Amino acid sequence: MQIATRPANSSSEILAHLPRIGGVIPMYVDGEWRLAAGGATRELYDPANGQPIASIAEATEADVEAAIAAARKAFDEGPWAAMNAADRAALLFRVADAIDARRDEFSRIDTLNNGKPLRETQYDAIDAANCFRYYAGLATKPHGQTFDVPAPSQTFTVREPIGVCGQIVPWNYPLLMATWKLAPALAAGNVCILKPSELTPLSTIALATIFDELEFPPGTINVVPGPGATVGHALASSMLVDKIAFTGGTKTGRSIMQAATSNLKKISLELGGKSPNVVFADADFETAVDYALFGIFANAGQVCSAGSRLVVERSLRDRFVERLVERAQNIRVGDGFDPQTEMGPIISPLHRERVEAYIATGVEEGAKLLCGGERLGGPLAAGNFIAPTIFDGTSPNMRIVKEEIFGPVLVIQTFDDEAEAIAIANDTVYGLAGAVFTGDIAKAHRVIRKLRAGITWINTYHPTYNEAPWGGYKQSGIGRELGTYGYDAYTEVKQINVNLDVAPSGWFADRRV
Ligand code: NAD
Repeated sequence: MQIATRPANSSSEILAHLPRIGGVIPMYVDGEWRLAAGGATRELYDPANGQPIASIAEATEADVEAAIAAARKAFDEGPWAAMNAADRAALLFRVADAIDARRDEFSRIDTLNNGKPLRETQYDAIDAANCFRYYAGLATKPHGQTFDVPAPSQTFTVREPIGVCGQIVPWNYPLLMATWKLAPALAAGNVCILKPSELTPLSTIALATIFDELEFPPGTINVVPGPGATVGHALASSMLVDKIAFTGGTKTGRSIMQAATSNLKKISLELGGKSPNVVFADADFETAVDYALFGIFANAGQVCSAGSRLVVERSLRDRFVERLVERAQNIRVGDGFDPQTEMGPIISPLHRERVEAYIATGVEEGAKLLCGGERLGGPLAAGNFIAPTIFDGTSPNMRIVKEEIFGPVLVIQTFDDEAEAIAIANDTVYGLAGAVFTGDIAKAHRVIRKLRAGITWINTYHPTYNEAPWGGYKQSGIGRELGTYGYDAYTEVKQINVNLDVAPSGWFADRRV
């Protein structure tokens, strides 16, 4: 394995444009920068070297209540929902342009705070701008329907904003996950209270500076950094929040769903996965190897749709695995600021320990460790680095095969025929993503159509488009983000009936005379 280290740079220079109050990065509520009600703060650390990078206001339930009150007022009385779509769109296009103008800053903030390599965060920043642009365009394309009903009635629907949206996101794509939530919600005329992950709030604060500079009406967008159990739960359980949109783990999703029963708020859940990457013997060999690597080791496997189960045809298996291991061992792991780095660290010491515990479990369960499996030392010892890890000799009931590890750990499963490939692929409680590699296009379609998953690929892995729906079957979630589906998820549908024959109905007799 190769190791990449950091060129000189400083966190204070990278974070120079973020607001501070008394040295603390504040939250954004009701169009103002504020410290937490009780003054609590949280220290943020660089996952690549364990060094502190900034101190940020840690919201409390009182801060969430203030944000909800501001959002409520902004929606019920404020100009945002009433603003015409063209004006909303114009502002959102300006958000996209502002992200583009500050692309390097966004990229460097996420690399500092999350650890992922610059080339990934640069892509995330481009994607975030394009997501705002896509939804800015969609804002002016309302798509109600008219209905031919058996009565003298003009019957049609309009789509209206849901109202106050609580949005809770994870740490693995800090800027992008915030964008996937905010862009469609705002385009549809909603107001938002966004809770970034407590580990990676910085790029969301940078995003809030753009909303602030563009003078979005106060209360339209609120950012409350803080822990899930308090801040997230307060949003999910509030009687004044109309919708909760969540991306994160399936266990957390379940508790959010329960909390949301308080006022039966609308919910969208984008949850975990254990996605199969099925490789047939007739696949283009180097392409399949390449995407198998990309599927699991991009973002150090901390991707909900990661191809964490390689399901490979027995006749190809030995040759494929040999090449895969050789390439995995050559991945350049290291500091995300080194342009040579291909794979960065795990987000935190706690999560690194979780991934290490899974690796130990895999060994105890009797799986065969082909490569990796260890924490990296030397110049990377202070960070949370784990070597690209591949297990063979697995069986279906092993925990490493069934559970989401959310790290750079691939398990190999083997099949003999198409039916077995499908059965293995679907043998999971999750249903987020999956891929098939084969030169036989009919077989590719047959297998993909049998896959119980929401996002699928043929002869590729991971491409994600703002234009196309994203979400999972089974325990991978409820609803879809992105595309028109993502926009619709932030709207209520209102039926409007206009009587074209304005005369009494005569249902009840008129007995005046
Ligand atoms: P997590 O569920 O621990 O946390 C996600 C967010 O929820 C964080 O902001 C956290 O503070 C908050 N939270 C935690 N407990 C809460 C509670 N009781 N009430 C309200 N909010 C709470 O997940 P994570 O570790 O940050 O991220 C990893 C998980 O996210 C993985 O399971 C991954 O598959 C999933 N994920 C899914 C998608 C998708 O699109 N399906 C995308 C990215 C990540």
